[in-house]
This record gives sequence, structure tokens and C-alpha cells, in this order.
Amino acid sequence: MASELEPEVQAIDRSLLECSAEEIAGKWLQATDLTRELYQHLAHYVPKIYCRGPNPFPQKEDMLAQHVLLGPMEWYLCGEDPAFGFPKLEQANKPSHLCGRVFKVGEPTYSCRDCAVDPTCVLCMECFLGSIHRDHRYRMTTSGGGGFCDCGDTEAWKEGPYCQKHELNTSEIEEEEDPLVHLSEDVIARTYNIFAIMFRYAVEILIWEKESELPEDLEMVEKSDTYYCMLFNDEVHTYEQVIYTLQKAVNCTQKEAIGFATTVDRDGRRSVRYGDFQYCEQAKSVIVRNTSRQTKPLKVQVMHSSIVAHQNFGLKLLSWLGSIIGYSDGLRRILCQVGLQEGPDGENSSLVDRLMLSDSKLWKGARSVYHQLFMSSLLMDLKYKKLFAVRFAKNYERLQSDYVTDDHDREFSVADLSVQIFTVPSLARMLITEENLMSIIIKTFMDHLRHRDAQGRFQFERYTALQAFKFRRVQSLILDLKYVLISKPTEWSDELRQKFLEGFDAFLELLKCMQGMDPITRQVGQHIEMEPEWEAAFTLQMKLTHVISMMQDWCASDEKVLIEAYKKCLAVLMQCHGGYTDGEQPITLSICGHSVETIRYCVSQEKVSIHLPVSRLLAGLHVLLSKSEVAYKFPELLPLSELSPPMLIEHPLRCLVLCAQVHAGMWRRNGFSLVNQIYYYHNVKCRREMFDKDVVMLQTGVSMMDPNHFLMIMLSRFELYQIFSTPDYGKRFSSEITHKDVVQQNNTLIEEMLYLIIMLVGERFSPGVGQVNATDEIKREIIHQLSIKPMAHSELVKSLPEDENKETGMESVIEAVAHFKKPGLTGRGMYELKPECAKEFNLYFYHFSRAEQSKAEEAQRKLKRQNREDTALPPPVLPPFCPLFASLVNILQSDVMLCIMGTILQWAVEHNGYAWSESMLQRVLHLIGMALQEEKQHLENVTEEHVVTFTFTQKISKPGEAPKNSPSILAMLETLQNAPYLEVHKDMIRWILKTFNAVKKMRESSPTSPVAETEGTIMEE
Ligand SMILES: [Zn+2]
Ligand SMILES: [Zn+2]
Ligand SMILES: [Zn+2]
Repeated sequence: MASELEPEVQAIDRSLLECSAEEIAGKWLQATDLTRELYQHLAHYVPKIYCRGPNPFPQKEDMLAQHVLLGPMEWYLCGEDPAFGFPKLEQANKPSHLCGRVFKVGEPTYSCRDCAVDPTCVLCMECFLGSIHRDHRYRMTTSGGGGFCDCGDTEAWKEGPYCQKHELNTSEIEEEEDPLVHLSEDVIARTYNIFAIMFRYAVEILIWEKESELPEDLEMVEKSDTYYCMLFNDEVHTYEQVIYTLQKAVNCTQKEAIGFATTVDRDGRRSVRYGDFQYCEQAKSVIVRNTSRQTKPLKVQVMHSSIVAHQNFGLKLLSWLGSIIGYSDGLRRILCQVGLQEGPDGENSSLVDRLMLSDSKLWKGARSVYHQLFMSSLLMDLKYKKLFAVRFAKNYERLQSDYVTDDHDREFSVADLSVQIFTVPSLARMLITEENLMSIIIKTFMDHLRHRDAQGRFQFERYTALQAFKFRRVQSLILDLKYVLISKPTEWSDELRQKFLEGFDAFLELLKCMQGMDPITRQVGQHIEMEPEWEAAFTLQMKLTHVISMMQDWCASDEKVLIEAYKKCLAVLMQCHGGYTDGEQPITLSICGHSVETIRYCVSQEKVSIHLPVSRLLAGLHVLLSKSEVAYKFPELLPLSELSPPMLIEHPLRCLVLCAQVHAGMWRRNGFSLVNQIYYYHNVKCRREMFDKDVVMLQTGVSMMDPNHFLMIMLSRFELYQIFSTPDYGKRFSSEITHKDVVQQNNTLIEEMLYLIIMLVGERFSPGVGQVNATDEIKREIIHQLSIKPMAHSELVKSLPEDENKETGMESVIEAVAHFKKPGLTGRGMYELKPECAKEFNLYFYHFSRAEQSKAEEAQRKLKRQNREDTALPPPVLPPFCPLFASLVNILQSDVMLCIMGTILQWAVEHNGYAWSESMLQRVLHLIGMALQEEKQHLENVTEEHVVTFTFTQKISKPGEAPKNSPSILAMLETLQNAPYLEVHKDMIRWILKTFNAVKKMRESSPTSPVAETEGTIMEE
């Protein structure tokens, strides 16, 4: 065997092997200038061990390094043979209760869905199997590498923070004990010395940027002319390009080139040629020349072999430090102290700071080695974790900017440590109050999105590939914001309030740049030539969805914060739409003796935007005012009287009208980008902070204004005002205009508008809007999903919105509303709606897509036929509104509403003379049904001293006044009951008439019946 080795290699080995670790350590113990001694030793030996030829010999290098370099350090540290010294340290150690196992790529990790504070809290397999969570609902994933086991972290788990192995010994005192008490003074002093010198050496050599010159104290007397041509990885060039280039540049085989490329990709760099300077330079220039044509060239450096040698040893040293501190928490504490000690240059001069700030300049391999060391040292020491968190926050802006301009993946950036720091609730809270972290994250984010339009809104149009690339990277900042917000405070200090609200201000600035972004104009005549960019804006909205919800949750947890946030949000909305008229012409609308001032604005002719996050946040906060009862407890602290309902509803209404017009086919020429936007607006991923909130904002508006005024403005925005305000307009319209498309369009718009009114009155299942709780809300979602068809678990989950913890809340309520039908021989198990839940079915449930709605209608009618019941699908009985929204129901009995209902029924009665549709009629019937249900409930809950002011039955019994003398709504319904062309709707009309009679009876027998004669005027106040 020996004869096969090259003689030169053997010779070197022999000279090195003569070193004695004990002797060297002895010399160091006597040294007056230990730094100098150590550096001389390294300067002499490192280049003799590492980088002796074209290819690395890792095993040989490691063996020699241990013998000549690390061994003496271990002797020095222990003051004796480390074979005895380390076990002693280990025995004296009181180990921490944190597991901290750092995950490898592909390793399984477990999180408990019942007990984890958030989904980033995970356990390694060993800890999981030894924990109580193995019997809970858990989620298994495979690690992408990086991150560590949270076993033992009491902040990460609501219950069962320790596995059996890391169980806290009950006799021990909780934490906070100084781990140094278990070490002798001597060991402490020597460890400190060796760690300080070696850690500094490693940092200095790793961030060293000169290519042929060593730091002064490591420079050698005679320097050989041996260089490496070092190739670095980037994410721009493909494997094939690199392999092809290498074959040309260094004249290697394809197999060798593949080997080089693989190592470059894995470690971040690899020498591709070894030899004298000229020889390496030549290879470099070929590589650069060959790869600079399309993009920036591959990064190549010609480096002196001694620099590479020291850098390789520097990495070895960091791993060595990581393993040495495993022997004792005291050693780990010393390393943390050394790492965070400020250097001679003040701020940012600690070793930890210097490494972080050089992160994006380091190659992949170096980064992952020092990240691992940070995780096993700084993040495992409770005291230093805090100090490190502060350093991380102070450098946050710079680290993120470096990351955005760097082209490496997130997992290779030190910025990725944010998940380890920000998800610790106590650290997040401290960083918010002491370092203003929320504002810093949001401002950093905004700094990276500089493209704005004339109004200061984000602009993603004509977006270059580079901007798109940067935008993707910038999104990780939103994730950081999410981490910071993930655990909601249970207690608020004044500092926390102040800093949260500062962060909230910054957040509003961000939303302000989104309010009205990507405005669109209806295309008439030709189709659009190029689909406009829309995805970036939606990506931003989608990524922010949970953050917006979490912001609201934070506000909800403190009354003072909620009040201030509400005021701030309103102020920003006023800035956005100060003069909400935006220069449009004022006009007056009047129907049935009511009139209102508004502006002339047509969605189909002017700019309109789907992005209204400020309006929607205010809607969310408004609901919270109601839910938390702050609106009733402190009305004097709220600017409710400053609210202008027409201003609040204007933009959300435009957005909903846009959807209606798209549905009516009026925007066909705008292409798919618009279709996609409308789709996402309603989609389960976005709707909670888009569509749902627009509905809430309109509900807010109606509950604060005269419903007649609201309806007239609504008619006007739907561009239907003429039809309902001009007597017989409909007749003229259908007879004069033969253009079928326009008739069809208007019919659809009327249907859509009626649908929207149904939603405004019927959607009261958000806690705060109606008197319900979160469970009722999720139950209702499930009932409606299962009304379409029985569903498998996974299918059902997909149809429900997930919260920031990826939970839908389904499991806690599913048994109350569904049966589980076990799978047959093939196929999946299915959830089926319980029969008793069918009565809660609402045909106009607002989260149904068109297709779902018609499927659900069909399924429910079929079910009724099977049960030999009539097939009417009357509106369900609804929970009462919260007081803040209570007056909303009056929209159903307002004059304008009755006029709309009467007009459409009239069209149906004289069915040949008008353009009308069955869907339109069906919706009117539904609305009448809702009004009857409402009145019935009012009567059921009536008390002696209250007058029932909801008098729909009386209003629909009255015929129209002279000169028209049109029949009453009731009379028309009676006529329609016998209309042969309305067979499908007969059951529903019959149900209405039956309910009408029941309500009438109730009213007659109710104690307040004498008031009935004058009721008509009560509602007008
Ligand atoms: Zn573990
Ligand atoms: Zn454990
Ligand atoms: Zn658990």
C-alpha cells in the first residue's frame, strides 16, 4: 500500500506527524503573547496541511489538522489530555432542556396542530416520539435543511414543551442559572483565550477579499507560485453552460467538468485549475470570455493556495467550535460572549456582526457552516439569543438589502434566521418595543418597491425580469412581518401600544400605495392589444392577506389600540379619497319622493380598481368596534360622526359593480387578465380581505344612511337608475331598442344588483356583523359546501379559507353538521350534510360561484322532491344583526326597494311587454321572503314597551297611489301564483303567501297591534 503513495506526500506527512499536541499546548501555556504564538503556528502549518495539489484530500487534511492544529488547542483548553478533559466537562454540565437538533435536508419534522404556538414550531423525530404530541393531531413535513428542533422551548408549545429526554427535572430551579458556575476559573480563562483568538482568525480569513496576499500576521517568508483558479456558483448560468465552458477553459473531460459543476453548485465554489499564476489566469480569462455574452460572466478568482488553505481551515475551525461547545453549556456561553463582544471599531464590529454583514459576499459552503454555528450557539443560549436578536434587528435593513441583491436562494442567506428569532413571542415583542421592528420591516419592504405612479401607488406595469426577480425576493419580508405578528399579545404595555401603532402607521402607508393600484378602463371597440400586468399586484395582496387579518386580530385584543387604529385608518382613507368626488359632476337622483345628491360616475366608462386594501381594513376594524362593543362603550372616543357613508361605500361599490358588469359580458374586450382578477377577488385565498370586506363596507354604509339614498346611489352605479326612476321606461326600452345584447346586459345587471341586496341583508355570519360566533361562521361555510354535494375531507378543506396557522377550524364543527360515510371498497370516505341542517341552506350564499349555486339549487330541490316536500327554497331564518348594523334590515321595507320589487313583479305580470328574466323574479321573491322572515322574528321577539317598526306586510298590501293606481305587491303575487309560465316558482310564491298570512295573524294577536294603522310613517323617523 505505502509504495503506491507519492513520495512527496509521504515526506510531508512525516514532518507533521512529529508534532506533539501536548508539547505545543505547553508552549502556549507559557506564552506571553498567545495571539502571536497561535498565529505563527497557523501561518507555518496550515499551508503545509491544506491545499497541496489540484485536488483536495479531505480525510488526510482532517487527520493532520486534528493532530497539528486542533489537538493542541484541545489540550490547551482542557489543561490535560482532552480524552479525559472533555468527559469531565460533560459530566459537570447541567444540560439545557432545549434539544436544538439542526435539521438536515429531507429529515422529517413534526408539528402538533393542537399545541404548537405556530406552525414553525417543530420537533425532531426522536423528541416527537417521546412527547405527548404523538397522540395529538400532528403534521409531518420534511425539512428543507436549516432550522432546529424546538423541544424544550416553553414559548413554542402551549402544552408538553419537553419530550421524555429533555423533561425538566422538577427538583431543578427554572433556567436562568449561569452555566459558567460549572466550570473552573482556569478552564474559563483558557477557553476564553482560545475561542477569542480562533474565532477571530476564522472570521477574518473567511471574509478576506484579497486574492494573493494574506493578512500580515499570517504571511509566509517564502511563498510558492501555486494558485487556484476558483469558480463560484451563481443562479444565472445553467449546469450545461458551466460544463461546456469548463471543458473549453481547463481542457478537462466531460465527466470531470460535471464533477466540478456539481461541487460548485453544492459548496458554492471549487477550484478548477491548480498551478502557477499565469496558468490559472489563462483559465480564468477563457471562462469569463465564454460566459459574458448573454449575462454577467461567471465569477472566477485566481487565489493563492495559502489563502484557500487558511479559508478551508477557517471552516474546519467553525465546525470544531460547534462540536466543542456541545460538551458544556458553559463553553457555549463563552463562545456567545466572544462572538458578540464589540470589537475596537464600535458598533457592528463584533465577530457575529462582521459575519452577518459579509454574508452575501461569502460562498454557500462558508455560509452554511457559520449559520449552523449560530444556531447551535447563539440560538441555544437564552441570554445570548436575546442579544443576538437585537443585533439581527439592528442590521435587518442591511441584511435584507444584501439578500435582495444577492442571487442565492433564501435558505443560504443569514436573513433566513428571522424565522428562528421572530417567531419567539417574547423576542418578537421585545424587538417591536425596543427596536421598532414592525416599522423597520415595513419600511424596508417599501424601499424595495420604488416604482410608483403619479398618485404614489405601486406600479408593476412594464415590469422587467430583473424587477420581477427582486419582487419575488422582497416578498420574504412579508413573511417576516407575519412571523412577528403570529402570536398575539395577551398583555399590552404602553410601549407596546405606541410601537405597534407606529408599525400600524407604516402598514397603512403600504396599503395606501396599493389603494387603487392597477386601475382598469373598459375597452370598447377593439380587444386590448396586450394583456396588462396584473399578477404582481395580486401576489402582493395574496401575500398580505394573513398579515392584514393578523393586524386586525392585534387591534381587537386591546380597546385603546383598536380606537387609535380605527382613527388612523379612517384618516388615511380620507387622504386617498379626500374629495371623494374626484372632480366628477354632482347630480341629484330622485325616486318615490326621495332624493339624494351624488356624483356622475360610470364604472363602464371611467377608471376602476380592484385593489382597495385601506377601505377593506377600515371595514374590518368597523366590525371589530361592534364585536368588542367599543362602539357602544366609548362612542365619544370614536370619529363615527365624521364618517361619510357615501364616501365609504363609493369604491367598494364600484368594485362590486365591475364584477357585475364583467358577468354581464360588458368587459369582454379586456381579455383574460381581468377575468383572472375577478376570479381571485372571490377566491378562497383572497376573498376574506377583498370581496367579503367590500360586502361589509356596504353593510356599514347602509346601516348609517337612509336606505332609500343608498339604493338610489346603487342603482346609479349599476347604471340602472333610468330604468327604475322613469315610469314605463322598461316598456319603452324593450320595444324601442331591438339590440338584444343590451337588453340581456341590463337583465343581468338587475339580477346582480338584487343578488347584492340579498347579500347585504343576509350575510351576517361574521362575528360583529351578526350576533354569531366564529363557530357559527365556519359551520355555515361547511353547510353550504356540503349542500352542493357530499365531499371528501381534502376537498372540503380546500374550499375553506385557512388562517395564518393553516387551520380552517373545520374539525371542531364538522360533526355537528355532517355525517361521515365510510368509503366502500374503492373510493374515499365522504362527509354528508345532516338532514336537519338543510333548513339553513341559502340559495344566495355569497361564497357560491355561479356553477356551485346552480348545482346546489338542483341538489336541494331534488332532496325536497325525494322527501315529498314542495320544492320551494325559502330564505333561512337568520341570526339578528349586532346593534351597530341593526338598521340595515330597513332596506327591505324602504320605498325604493318596494318600488324595485313592484316594478319587476309588474314586468312579470305583463310578461310579454317587458324584458325581464326568471332569475330576476326569483331574486325578488327571495327578498320578499327575507323581509317576511325578518318581520316574523321581530314579532316573535317583541316586548311590551317596544313597537315593531318593521311593517313589510302592511306595505306590500297597499296598492300604488293615484294616478298610476298599480296593484299592491301582494295582489301581484296572487296573480302570479296562477301564471302558467311560472310553474317553477309556484312553490315559492305559495310559501310567501302562506308566510304572509302567518305574519299577519301574529301581528293581529300581538300586543302592539293597535299601532298598526300609523306604522307606515314610523320608519321614516
Ligand atoms: Zn429534538
Ligand atoms: Zn426533546
Ligand atoms: Zn400536542
